[in-house]
Amino acid sequence: MTCKEAGDCIEKYNASCIFCKIVNKELSSTIVYDDQRIIAFGDVNPASKGHTLVIPKDHYVSIDEMPPDILGKTIEAAKKVTEMLRADDHTIVAFNLLNCSGAASGQSVGHFHIHVIPRRNGDSGEVVPKIEALLRPK
Ligand code: AMP
Repeated sequence: MTCKEAGDCIEKYNASCIFCKIVNKELSSTIVYDDQRIIAFGDVNPASKGHTLVIPKDHYVSIDEMPPDILGKTIEAAKKVTEMLRADDHTIVAFNLLNCSGAASGQSVGHFHIHVIPRRNGDSGEVVPKIEALLRPK
């Protein structure tokens, strides 16, 4: 059964998009948040422990295409994710929230997403370079 058949809200599905496949459960992921419009799951190549991607279920490539109400819901969900992560892991003291919109900004997956990247005091020297790498055009 597809999400649409299940009464969920997939209206804009792109068969070649890996994040649409995650939304539609064709590809497995570690889902940490799921509501009618938004889903959040663990980044497969985390910049830090708990690095999560928050996405609209519908396929919008970048900020230019995002309807304002869905953008608002995505940001609200990102805030909930920060609260969930912090509740689960008291070593988290801060977050980077990051969106790359357009290939020249470093976007590698063409389905709008907000990176929620937990930060800890004394982060190893690896974390900042990994975040910087997200900004580099691929
Ligand atoms: P960006 O470069 O801003 O478009 O970020 C794309 C992010 O998606 C990267 O941090 C990747 O590690 C992550 N990513 C790619 N494929 C998957 C996947 N199948 N499951 C989870 N995260 C993924």
